[in-house]
Amino acid sequence: MPEMKSQQKQTARWYPASCHCKNVTFKAQTDLSGAFTCNCSFCVRRATTLLKLDPEGFELQSDKNKLSAYGNSGFSRHYFCNNCGIQCFTEITRQGAEAVIVNAACLEGIDFYSLKPSLFDGKNKL
Ligand SMILES: [Zn+2]
Repeated sequence: MPEMKSQQKQTARWYPASCHCKNVTFKAQTDLSGAFTCNCSFCVRRATTLLKLDPEGFELQSDKNKLSAYGNSGFSRHYFCNNCGIQCFTEITRQGAEAVIVNAACLEGIDFYSLKPSLFDGKNKL
């Protein structure tokens, strides 16, 4: 077997994704294996399953002015559709931890409820 950078790279593919009204569209590169939920004060309220992407594994396709942002700009910014209110993705802006966390429920062509998310203890670790 040839050496792989990581197992995730081996089977990751690009998924089209959108908010409910399709004002916001993006693409996410993932193998779905890292699905997680988080119990921090924000995530516990939105209660969805998340996927963490490298910044280069995320591509916003719609206009940024269709989004509103919430959160601490030095840590993370949560992005919502201005029209339907779906929270689509979060940019982790904390230096050294840059990533994009996407709402897995926005991905098209996946069986959302077959994901087996692990729990990230954001309540105590963030
Ligand atoms: Zn929308």
